[in-house]
Amino acid sequence: MLSYGTPAGTQPYRPLHGHNAIVTGASRGIGRAIALHLAAAGANVVINYRQNETLAVDVVSTCRQFDVQALAVRADVSQAQEVASLVQTAAVNIGPPTILVNNAGIARSGLLLDTTEDEWDALMNANLKSPFLCAKAVLPYMIQNGYGRIINISSIWGLAGGSFEVAYSASKGGLISLTKALAKEMGPSGITVNAVAPGAVQTDMLGHLDPEALQMLAEETPVGRLGTPEDVAAAVLFLALPTSSFITGQVLSPNGGLIT
Ligand code: NAP
Repeated sequence: MLSYGTPAGTQPYRPLHGHNAIVTGASRGIGRAIALHLAAAGANVVINYRQNETLAVDVVSTCRQFDVQALAVRADVSQAQEVASLVQTAAVNIGPPTILVNNAGIARSGLLLDTTEDEWDALMNANLKSPFLCAKAVLPYMIQNGYGRIINISSIWGLAGGSFEVAYSASKGGLISLTKALAKEMGPSGITVNAVAPGAVQTDMLGHLDPEALQMLAEETPVGRLGTPEDVAAAVLFLALPTSSFITGQVLSPNGGLIT
């Protein structure tokens, strides 16, 4: 069970009590850890997933142990109609969204010369169009409340560019530009928009790498290890807090010092 070091006999630290979060792609990996951190901080959470219902339902059960409302909602967040339904279901069941974490994403590696148009489109749809659609769907609620936190999960490759990952890097770099531009539009409405750009994090997304490649990545990382989903979730939680209201249009990069 997550805990924020509450001294014995005091109330738990629940800075997000009364907040309603949607986390896309929260059935596993980084999204799962983000959902659990937000729930542990007191937020009601919608766990979005695309295929893995069993895993999503398990995340819901774990979130509910923090005495918050939690719900699993299936939606392919690259489809506008499914996003509209996801956000409406969230608003009706847990309340108007105050936090959106655009986490759902896919990765493909390979030379640009071997990347097909379909692969390019799939990456852009999952990694860049989805955050656009989700932001567009939650913003009317946030504008009406004069409050919101949008956090987009980018990647160090969106900052630095990764060879064999040109399309992925472009999609994540585009997400950083979306973040900075939307932050300027939404500042006057009390809504912050930030990006988190993780380094290599041990999830299914790195499943194509063999143990030697993972070991090399860990050794190249100044802190000497790969990231965990919890490393990323801690950064997201910080940006989601009401007290982070002066931070917007920024990129926070939990990467173990891999890029500075
Ligand atoms: P993961 O373990 O592969 O999990 C991906 C999640 O996204 C799953 O919950 C999946 O749902 C969901 N998803 C994918 N496409 C979706 C769609 N169209 N609609 C709804 N849900 C969708 O990936 P991860 O490593 O946790 O990555 C999470 C985010 O962090 C991604 O944006 C990724 O690019 C970024 N990131 C990861 C790393 C890393 O090293 N792992 C580093 C930097 C950035 P199902 O389970 O239902 O399929």
